Amino acid sequence: MNDKVTELFGTMVFNDEVMQKRLPKDTYKALQRTIKEGLPLESSVAAVVANTMKDWAIEKGATHYTHWFQPMTGVTAEKHDGFISPTGNGKVIMEFSGKELIQGEPDASSFPSGGLRATFEARGYTAWDATSYAFIKEGVLCIPTVFCSYGGESLDQKTALLRSMEAISKQAVRVLRLFGNTEVRSVKTTVGPEQEYFLIDRDVFDKRKDLLYTGRTLFGSRPPKGQELDDHYFGAIKPRVREYMRELNRELWTFGILAKTEHNEVAPAQHELAPIFTTTNQAVDQNQLTMELMQKIARKHHMVCLLHEKPFAGVNGSGKHNNWSLSTDTGINLLEPGDTPAENAQFLLFLCAVIKAVDEYQDLLRISVASPGNDHRLGANEAPPAIISMFLGDELSDILKAIENDEKVDPRQKEVMRIGVHTLPRFCRDTTDRNRTSPFAFTGNKFEFRMPGSAVSISCANTVLNTAVAEELKQFADDLEGAGDFEDAIHKLIQRVITEHKRIIFNGDGYDESWIREAEKRGLMNLRTTPDAVAHLMDEKNVKLFEEHKVFSPTELKARYDVRLENYSKVLNIEALTMLDMANKDILPAMSAYSRQLAEACQQKSAVSGDIDCVYEKEILRKLSAMITAMYKASKKLEEDLLNSKSIEDLAELAAYFRDVIVPDMTALRVPADEMETLVSAQAWPYPSYGEILFSVQ
Ligand code: ADP
Ligand code: MG
Repeated sequence: MNDKVTELFGTMVFNDEVMQKRLPKDTYKALQRTIKEGLPLESSVAAVVANTMKDWAIEKGATHYTHWFQPMTGVTAEKHDGFISPTGNGKVIMEFSGKELIQGEPDASSFPSGGLRATFEARGYTAWDATSYAFIKEGVLCIPTVFCSYGGESLDQKTALLRSMEAISKQAVRVLRLFGNTEVRSVKTTVGPEQEYFLIDRDVFDKRKDLLYTGRTLFGSRPPKGQELDDHYFGAIKPRVREYMRELNRELWTFGILAKTEHNEVAPAQHELAPIFTTTNQAVDQNQLTMELMQKIARKHHMVCLLHEKPFAGVNGSGKHNNWSLSTDTGINLLEPGDTPAENAQFLLFLCAVIKAVDEYQDLLRISVASPGNDHRLGANEAPPAIISMFLGDELSDILKAIENDEKVDPRQKEVMRIGVHTLPRFCRDTTDRNRTSPFAFTGNKFEFRMPGSAVSISCANTVLNTAVAEELKQFADDLEGAGDFEDAIHKLIQRVITEHKRIIFNGDGYDESWIREAEKRGLMNLRTTPDAVAHLMDEKNVKLFEEHKVFSPTELKARYDVRLENYSKVLNIEALTMLDMANKDILPAMSAYSRQLAEACQQKSAVSGDIDCVYEKEILRKLSAMITAMYKASKKLEEDLLNSKSIEDLAELAAYFRDVIVPDMTALRVPADEMETLVSAQAWPYPSYGEILFSVQ
């Protein structure tokens, strides 16, 4: 299999190797400067790159190109243009200019802009992100781009991410200089997202309107067998799934995405895919592409890949663990504890920057993963709670405590630990599996942010993380650059950070009820729903943070605020309408018909002999009648309340209305339906059951 990987790997990517081989030396060098140092790309260079890229793409069978971008919807968008161009004498040539490479103008006016485009220009434009490689997908040369308005306001997820990477690089380099490091020129954040998903058979999917319209089941009672036996977790992969994974892996390899592990997850039909980590913007692009391919290839295998965070109530949901670290251009992982006192001090300083960032910007991190789908997951039984806390492991926590209190780390030690003087004791790496409940865990040489949902782009989460850590590093650098005694200053700084921010560190069980009370005592935020979280986006400290590091202007941030709230209400509106459709068109008529069958059975039996009692039929009939009435009333109420939502104009008010009125209405409608499903014959129920869906791929 390894041979195949090397053969296939990156064949569809215009990567460094291809560039080096195909571009003239000068052009290659100029492009490298753009990629490595963020310098603008000269139009003469762009023209050569474009032409080479086109030739390469045509050799690989491409006929079209597209600017591939990530609008605020969270999915990727593309508009295809042909290379073909008329020459005037009835012939055609294949053309692709530097201008077409650098800039595009998709008529993309229906992407959400949070009012931004109305204020400036109706059209947005796309611009090549030279730091992410172009690739060929289904005969189309895809050029990763950013998407902006003519006023320069970003309309996508990518621009802010790139800006945040610049911000953290700048501040991290300042800090490294303080440690006498003069070589490092830039620091990159690295990300490896572990992607969870469900695979189900196409036939059952097609019979479920809820899965079709919303990606999750809106009705359905628990299956007799769920995940309680834990026999699916890391269990043998079924042949059909294995075939799927094989094809998916091969496709991913051609895009230079090294999918490393694959195993079954906790729930039946749930699986996970983890790629090898890479630079954040590339990791984000690759994850978007991975999600697209997962769905496409599933269809080929007569299956459907569900990326929704909570496709099934009462069954484990899906997330996307965002493994994150900082790496210098000289190849050093800054979150790797070192061997010498100086290395340790540097490690602890970066660690403290993350601790302080997570504590001070809990709300932003929570917002970055807020979506209606993820609301079902965060705080539910299997996922991290909605409260942000950090897991450092006992040993590292003990070291921090000793530093805070000027104590000896080890009682056998002679002196108390002085940062910059003493070497940290070697601590064992806490394996991730020891604490799966923490939303933000240190896993030896990286942090694992476990809150992102499976369906959304990890762009926002990483933008927040990068910017918040950039801010703390800036404060540290400001503080330390002016210090007389560097060692003493760093010791005091670390002590202060631990004292002031240790409340965010929690190594216990995040699912435990008592943690919620404890977290409240510590003053940590518990933002349960998307509207609760998004309400904090425009808080003064957050606006200031993004403005300071030039990641979002206040106008751009407000646009995100609007888009997020609007999206929440829209998603719930679609879900509510789908429920009404299912209730009124399928479930209620089916239950009424089934009741009639029972009544007729009773009548016919009684006609045979007066003393046949029909206990079963009567009992079920009675229960069904009560539940049909309850369900009908609940559907009427939901319908009326949805109608009332039409008069609410304010986005925050509307989102709150959906949260407080529509969501409970939907629950009230679901309860009698799920109960009826358990009472009636399998044939009478209009949809495949949870059991049939979850065990549909054998
Ligand atoms: P674990 O099993 O302890 O979580 P793995 O080695 O399986 O660790 O890594 C899980 C994910 O973390 C993988 O996608 C991997 O590529 C990624 N990862 C590993 N090191 C880093 C790093 N320095 N920065 C970002 N992601 C990383
Ligand atoms: Mg992991």
